[in-house]
Amino acid sequence: MTIQEKRFRCNLPKTDIIVGPGTLEAIGYETKKVGKRALLVSGKSSMKKLGFLDKAIESLMKAGVQVVHYGEVEPNPTVDIVNEGAKKAIQNACDVIVGFGGGSSIDTAKAIAVVAGHVRGKPISIWDFISPEGANEEITAQTLPLVTIPSTSGTGSHVSQDSVITNSKTKQKQGFGSPFLFPKISMIDIEILSKMPPTLSAVAGFDALTHAIESFFSAHSNPISELYSLEAIRLIFRNLPQAYENGDDQQARKEMALADTYAGWADTTTSDILPHAMAHPVSGHHPRVAHGVSLAALFPAIMRFNLEGADKCTVEKYCKVTRAATGKSIFDNKTGKEEASKSVDLIEKLLKTIKLNVNLKELDVERTKFKLMAADAIKTMPEAIQANPRKVSEEDIVALYEQCY
Ligand code: NDP
Ligand code: MN
Repeated sequence: MTIQEKRFRCNLPKTDIIVGPGTLEAIGYETKKVGKRALLVSGKSSMKKLGFLDKAIESLMKAGVQVVHYGEVEPNPTVDIVNEGAKKAIQNACDVIVGFGGGSSIDTAKAIAVVAGHVRGKPISIWDFISPEGANEEITAQTLPLVTIPSTSGTGSHVSQDSVITNSKTKQKQGFGSPFLFPKISMIDIEILSKMPPTLSAVAGFDALTHAIESFFSAHSNPISELYSLEAIRLIFRNLPQAYENGDDQQARKEMALADTYAGWADTTTSDILPHAMAHPVSGHHPRVAHGVSLAALFPAIMRFNLEGADKCTVEKYCKVTRAATGKSIFDNKTGKEEASKSVDLIEKLLKTIKLNVNLKELDVERTKFKLMAADAIKTMPEAIQANPRKVSEEDIVALYEQCY
């Protein structure tokens, strides 16, 4: 065993999680612990169509929690969607925000909790807290408490201190974080997750894999986060093809939900690296491209770029990813660049299996924007760029976008 000489800090998430089938029924009982008037934040249609939205409202009302529904969230949520929701929360004196849906709904709920919690007498915008050009407001303990129910297994937002919001004027997709954004309680309902259609299962599941791997290679990784990363990688390689092909496979759905949670934990206690920094500008400038799809188009090329410039310790990490992906024992001690490179082969194979082997051209990403997107990657995600195991310049980023076209 190697001894980690570096001193490390691992700030474990502070979210109570409840996992199982039918946990949605308890949303009222659990929310009552943290608030009396809830703004229930969801997307425009899926939860309503599947009957889960009515169930959530019924459970909240039965428990004596007053509910105001805000169902306007769209994928890659914007500053305007957040500010509109915050207005509704303030007008109705809500004291808890419930995020119900995919990462977009949960991220919006978090951002609303920030704005609605910091009422100043004059209207404020989420952008005042997160602008990369210099934010003039600080996220504090005034942030309203959050409860979440994820309907996808991918973003880890239900256990993370992070959120990602797009400014549709500047096209910047901005990630931000604060310990006050950890949800107080998250209910993981396998029945809801089993309703994800195949493409969404693939896109979200691949996002979770990137969180596990990026966190593992981040300069901020540590022995505790690495344990969660490796277990998430093992679970995703074992279960994502099954969840994709047979959505009713409850075991695969449960293990993907756990993998999403582990990867979310690992990521939020460390950081993303280059793939997320480069994926956000893709969706920022092309909001129709889902987050997980942007990542799929970029991830293998970036993994190979990082491997080319890898030191011995990083090569060893690639070998550990190969082992986790193939379910081999952690005591298997094959090492070297060839073994390391197999991890990227396995990722490419997985992308083919779940039909996500795409390039930027097929996604209609504008090549003329590559320079602007590279500048945005550096401006909006400087920590992720710094935490990347290989030093990377703006020109490298443009070249990588070109390579993925
Ligand atoms: P979204 O929340 O964007 O949802 C995508 C689509 O799937 C929506 O149209 C939604 O419909 C539908 N949908 C959601 N759940 C179900 C279900 N169970 N059955 C059927 N349809 C469903 O997807 P993701 O979860 O992938 O979230 C992506 C967002 O999360 C991005 O903005 C990304 O940047 C962010 N993210 C956040 C992170 C964090 O730490 N906070 C980390 C990584 C990504 P409808 O809208 O009608 O509900
Ligand atoms: Mn992500």
